[in-house]
Amino acid sequence: MRPLVWMRTDLRTHDNPALHHACKASSRGVVAVFTICPKQWLSHDMAPIKAAFILRNLKDLSETLAKKNIALKIIETPTFATVPKLLKKLANEHECDALYFNREYEVNEQERDEEVTKVFESAGISIHAFTDQCVFAPGEVLTGKGDPYTVFTPFKKSWCAAVDEDRDRIELLSAPRKLAEMVSTPDDIPASIKGFSIADPREDLWHAGEKHAISRLNAFIENRLRSYKDARDVPAINGTSTISPYLASGVVSLRTCVHAAVQANNGKLDTGNIGATTWISELVWREFYKHILFHFPRVCKHRAFKVETERLRWNDNNEHFAAWCEGRTGFPIVDAAMRQLVQTGWMHNRLRMIVAMFLSKNLFLDWRLGERFFMRHLIDGDLAPNNGGWQWSASTGTDAAPYFRIFNTVTQSKKFDPDGSFIRKFVPELKDVDNDAIHDPSTLPELARANLDYPQPIVDLKQTRERAIEAFRELK
Ligand code: FAD
Repeated sequence: MRPLVWMRTDLRTHDNPALHHACKASSRGVVAVFTICPKQWLSHDMAPIKAAFILRNLKDLSETLAKKNIALKIIETPTFATVPKLLKKLANEHECDALYFNREYEVNEQERDEEVTKVFESAGISIHAFTDQCVFAPGEVLTGKGDPYTVFTPFKKSWCAAVDEDRDRIELLSAPRKLAEMVSTPDDIPASIKGFSIADPREDLWHAGEKHAISRLNAFIENRLRSYKDARDVPAINGTSTISPYLASGVVSLRTCVHAAVQANNGKLDTGNIGATTWISELVWREFYKHILFHFPRVCKHRAFKVETERLRWNDNNEHFAAWCEGRTGFPIVDAAMRQLVQTGWMHNRLRMIVAMFLSKNLFLDWRLGERFFMRHLIDGDLAPNNGGWQWSASTGTDAAPYFRIFNTVTQSKKFDPDGSFIRKFVPELKDVDNDAIHDPSTLPELARANLDYPQPIVDLKQTRERAIEAFRELK
């Protein structure tokens, strides 16, 4: 057999089910392929920083695969529509008789894969699809009645019990051995494609390659896992793993993360060290949102999970939205967070919740505006957790924040950035403001305020909070 391995959101050689099994089954070499679809990427709001990261990782992957005698071919085509035909042509050219890939769960991706499956099967080429993004495929963790879970805690309980019953689920697959023959030659990775470039000024923040991903993970597990529970909410310190870009592009697998945390926790999943169990919980949130997306595909189509919330009449205020995007709302923690996003391509989780709640509740702007802005700027932009996080904050989602529990932006700022050091880093115009006033410079005396090049708050927190609660109440 000569498999064609279609690499997608799995840009790695370790613990890659499709690649692993294809190499095991092969008797006449393996060919790998990646499809670049710039128009589709744009229509999915992929951020330039994420596209650049993918291209850099492809370069690294191509070199690693070549050392194993696997050539990585590149197909560049505007959208998914032409992928089935072009993949089939490549398979024919290289006399491949099987197609291997890891499953994706978004609606367009599933439709594309169904088309590819039809085209290949009708040509007598077998299809081998694997679960990779999740420990359990959507549909494998269900309630006693056989329904999908829509609440996280029971999902997690069931998930942990299922892993305990079958520990092989978090065992890792080895990288492929070096094959005897190289079929074809690797293609060059394009330096730029329509609308995207491989170069990004922030690439030193986000080194590419699976070796780097593993060392980032190991450094977190060794040095920060145990203190994660307390450190994770403080954006001024490096308390989280920052592994999300690598998970979102599949440079490291979710299983590898779970496996590493469980090992560090003496084999335990949901007991033992609180840092480890809290971190494992976050990984399960990721899987939960993937399952939600699969079972409720409306969330992929710009629809609210809670359908009744589609009757909310969001504000239409371009000026407020622009102030939010540009980090000039007059609320320092929001502005610092938004500037972190635009400058680094990443935002701390506590801040994602703060700015999402501020946009959807205080500005009362449609959460979809924020969701899209995030996708267009995040290096870890990923539909399921991004949509999940936005719908959680906007109280339109599954197991979401109750609509009447609205974060007070200033209180959150005082609690999670008490001495204002995160704010000072990203809002330098406030660097000399004292620790109290930095959370709300509008409280400064008139003269001191006038000397700051910083805007007045664009909304009143109390009034806007009441307005949002009232709007949700009216839905009933
Ligand atoms: P850690 O705290 O080290 O957590 C480890 C991993 O667990 C993360 O990499 C991530 O894969 C997963 N995880 C952590 N928190 C969550 C969560 N709340 N929901 C789902 N998975 C989680 N995450 C993305 O990967 N892509 C997104 O596009 C994205 N958009 C978000 C939008 C909003 C409004 C919110 C509130 C959250 C969003 N998240 C998203 C989830 C979370 O903020 C990031 O995963 C996290 O900040 C990444 O940093 P980390 O790798 O250091 O996380």
